[in-house]
Order: sequence, then structure tokens, then C-alpha cells
Amino acid sequence: MNVTIVGTGYVGLGTAIMLAYLGYQVTGLDYDEEKIQGLRDGILPIYEPGLAELLTAASPNLHWTSRYEDAIPQADFIFVCVGTPPLPDGHPNLAYLESAVRSIAQHLDGKPQIIVNKSTVPIGTGDWVMRTLEEHAALYATSHYEVVSNPEFLREGTALGDSLYPDRIVLGGSGWATERMRALYAPLIEQNFEAPAHVPRPRGYERPALVETTLTSAEMIKYSANAFLALKISYANEIAGLCECVGADIHEVTAGIGLDHRIGTRFLAAGAGWGGSCFGKDTSALISTGQDYGYNMPILRAAMSVNARQRSLVIEKLQKHLRLLKGKRVAVLGMAFKPDTDDLRDAPAHDFIARLCQLGATVVAYDPVAMPRARTEWGDLHYLEATSAHAALEGADAVIVATEWAEFRSMNWNEALCVMRNRVIVDARNIIREPLTVPAILEQIGRDHPHSSFLPAS
Ligand code: NAD
Repeated sequence: MNVTIVGTGYVGLGTAIMLAYLGYQVTGLDYDEEKIQGLRDGILPIYEPGLAELLTAASPNLHWTSRYEDAIPQADFIFVCVGTPPLPDGHPNLAYLESAVRSIAQHLDGKPQIIVNKSTVPIGTGDWVMRTLEEHAALYATSHYEVVSNPEFLREGTALGDSLYPDRIVLGGSGWATERMRALYAPLIEQNFEAPAHVPRPRGYERPALVETTLTSAEMIKYSANAFLALKISYANEIAGLCECVGADIHEVTAGIGLDHRIGTRFLAAGAGWGGSCFGKDTSALISTGQDYGYNMPILRAAMSVNARQRSLVIEKLQKHLRLLKGKRVAVLGMAFKPDTDDLRDAPAHDFIARLCQLGATVVAYDPVAMPRARTEWGDLHYLEATSAHAALEGADAVIVATEWAEFRSMNWNEALCVMRNRVIVDARNIIREPLTVPAILEQIGRDHPHSSFLPAS
């Protein structure tokens, strides 16, 4: 079976390489020529753990192009994985999708072809894609194609494990197309499927559940799943705020409530809140869809506002101890929105740096992988680059831990703090667990540190 993937970003690349690894002939198509040239040369445009190794293993089955005419006619499956970023009014921008669908339509072959929507799209988009194809498809192609919604649930940083050992595969559509999709995914659904050794099988994992629904329900599943996860994090953060008021410890509290199987321990980490390209975008898209029907969604609105409050809180905690930030040197550790990715979209660190600069501080930032990307994507910010976490802390008055990279978790904080001028730490990811033996002020989210003591130099 021939597969074409339109859009070779975080989702498209992972999908292309995964399907090629399963043995299909896969063509990755992107209109970004530079990206395609890089991929032909074996260079990945994104950082994702383990992806380079899988690319090498799957490369005999992979082809790259920027031309629709080279990728669409022979494809049995055409996966659409283009971006759907948010518009200022909260609705997703479907311009990339529309352009991709029109280009696909012009090169459909007339044989049975399945257009698989993997991009996260508003409810009803599958039907709209079908109508757009009908309008723009070459005459001979009509009626031999079908649209299926196959939402993606991978997380950046663990994309390979999530793709090769998914919890569920959602197929929204009807008739022959979903049947063929089931056949495409058959290798993953077989009980004894083994991914390569560098992609660990989750403990207790057996096989993915297959969820077959209508197009509309599949689209709804994707948005509601992301909005629920966003809500869960905001819930933990709201409880963390109350923990600070009453003197409870959010670590103890979430551990205690998460052990209830109905709740679960995951996505209860209090901190600077969610970021990235999906949670904010998808939650506001769901709210906007509600609005289109005159339906208010107060729970989701609250999740969004708690998340925004968490980001302000981090700067407020810094101000509490340093008072004036003007002229202060602040280290920001971590720029990516989460560890193990170079994705900077809606990263809390961006807001921290912007606000610190606005308040007159000098920012020194460090991230293990995202700094080259930040150079091109964060042209609106002024900050100094450090070559290591240690270098960022040198002479700093304060440090914000913005991303929970393993490197920051495992560093010797007592040693690292010694190179600072003042030792105010806002650990916005609650990763510092070792007792601080040097005098310092440690602020975490939902945790009280009555014994930290340090008077900042004026
Ligand atoms: P991305 O921005 O990383 O990649 C999109 C790619 O599409 C880019 O390489 C771009 O050049 C290409 N592109 C855009 N328009 C094109 C066109 N007309 N023709 C050919 N190529 C085109 O986006 P992403 O993070 O991979 O997300 C893709 C979709 O998947 C979005 O709808 C997103 O919401 C959804 N999603 C993302 C994640 C995630 O973790 N990133 C997870 C699940 C779902």
C-alpha cells in the first residue's frame, strides 16, 4: 500500500516514519522546499527522541517531495497533517488545510483513494473536506475517494512510543474506507507487535483499542480529549494555589488524590501550566465552536484562565523577593514548552522572558535543544544565550525553572546556586527535591518552603 503524508511537521514526520517502519511505501510531502531537501539528506527538521534512529531504519521505504503531482496520484492513503494554528478569535486557521485539500483534489487519480484527516480540525471539517474535494477534483476522480478522520494523540517528546503503542486508534468515517484503514493499522493492532528496541513498550501494554465512529464524533473525540487534559492540569494548579494558602503540599495532595483509579496520577503536575501547540488552541477552538451555537462552556473558560494565571504567578513570585526587577539578572532554564522537544509554540518561557524584559531585567536563557530554533522563532525577544545551565546561573539574581528537562532535575542545585549573585529560585515545574544547604529562597507552585532564607543584595 502506498501512503502519502501531506505536511512533514511534528505529526506528519512521526506518522510518515512510523508507517514506513511498518513496511509501507511512504512519500512525505511538504511545500517547504528547504525541509524536504534536508529530509532527503537525512536531516530531521525537528528534535524528537529516537526519531533519527527510526528514520535510518525506515529510509528505504521513505521518499520526500514538495510536488503534489509526484505524491498524490499513486497514493492509496493521503494523510493530511498540516498545521491548524489558532486565529486571534480562537477558531483554528484552516487556510493550510484548504490549500492542501485543493492541491490534493487536483491530483486524485480516479482509483479508490482515502484522504485521512490527521490534523486537528473543527467539528464538521471532514464533511467540508469532502465538499472541497468534490468541487476541485478532476472530473474522472469523482466518487472514488472517501474522507476519514483519524485524529492524532501523540505527545511531542514521546511521539514514537505514542505512535507505535497507542492507547487507541480512532477512525471516523464510513464503509470501505474505515475497513481499509483498519488493514493499514493491522500491524499495530496485532497483539505481538514489537517496536524497535529504543522505543520501550509501556508496562502492561497489550494492543490499541480500535474506536470506529462517525466523522463528526472522531473530530469531537480529539478536541474533547485535549480539553479534558488541559482542564486536569488547571484543576491541579487551582488546588495548588489553595495549598499555598492553607500550607498544604501539592505533591502530597496530588499523590493522594491520583491514587484513586477514577482520577489517576497523570496530568496532575502543578506548575507553570500547559503550553505547546495543542492544548490552548484546541480548548479555545472547542469554546469557539460552542459559541457558534450560542453554547457557553464555562468549565473550559476557567481552565484557560487558570492557565494564564499560572504564568503571571511565576513573575509575581519573583517580584515578591526581588521587589524591583529593573537591572536584575534573571536566568531562565528551559525554553521549549516541555522537555524532550524543541517546540517553542506557546511556551511559558516566552511569556516569562517577554515580561521580565518589560520590567527591565536582563534575561539569560538556556535550553538543551531549543536554542537554535528560538534564534529564528523568538526574534521579538531580547535575551542572552548561555551555553549551559551553570553558565546561565553565573552572576544571576534569580532563576526560573521554566521547563522540566531531566538535566535540570538531576543537576546538583546546591553546587549550581553557589555561582549566583542572589539566590532566588522560582521552580515553576516543582522539580527541585533535594534539600538546599546553601542559603536561598525557593519558591515552588503549591508548596511552602518556610525554611528557605536569604536576603537579596540590593
Ligand atoms: P507543524 O506546524 O509542525 O507541521 C505542519 C507542516 O505542514 C509544516 O511542515 C508545513 O510546512 C506543512 N504545510 C502547511 N501547509 C501545507 C500545504 N498546503 N502543503 C504541504 N505542506 C504544508 O504542525 P504539527 O505540530 O505537526 O501539527 C499538525 C496537526 O496535527 C495540527 O492540526 C495539530 O493540531 C495536530 N496535532 C499536533 C500534535 C503535536 O503534538 N504537535 C499532536 C496531535 C495533533
